[in-house]
Amino acid sequence: MNKRSFAKKPLYRQVNTRTHGVRHGGGHARWDRNTKAAGSAHASKMKSGVRHGLDYTPLYKFLLKKVGQPWSEVHSEAVSRLPDEDPIWYIVASAGSVREPIYRTGESSYLSGLYLNETAHLALVVPSLSNNMLWPKCACCTHSFNGTPFVNSFDPSRADDMFRVLSEWHRTGAIRT
Ligand SMILES: [Zn+2]
Repeated sequence: MNKRSFAKKPLYRQVNTRTHGVRHGGGHARWDRNTKAAGSAHASKMKSGVRHGLDYTPLYKFLLKKVGQPWSEVHSEAVSRLPDEDPIWYIVASAGSVREPIYRTGESSYLSGLYLNETAHLALVVPSLSNNMLWPKCACCTHSFNGTPFVNSFDPSRADDMFRVLSEWHRTGAIRT
């Protein structure tokens, strides 16, 4: 990694990975969207928030804290603390793209989907979506929502609930539990 100096702490951490098959450059591939990848609970071996050997957990915490703020300010600060801005657009829906209520950033780490509202402020796609609406897909992994462990424990009869809640949102635009 080349050395960079930032006015503030960078919004990523370097991870010691010797992972085979890690691709560098051309990083426009989106992370799996939870809803479509829901067939297997263990579809991805990716660690939480880790991509190309960089862990963007600090970026996602930063963005979630900036909900309601003018995007121009949030964006320019984020960009100044990142090697490139691609990871921003993994959880922020750019203008005209599909807004997802939730993104999966690792095997079982989920984040609120974000978008830019009419007044160009950072906003949650589904403000009413909360941790207690989400149910683990398996018993073996620690599931988290916005960095906080799920409050619900694994229950085989509810393992598909997250998929159900999200697909209902796509159909009706409403979250019902
Ligand atoms: Zn598991």
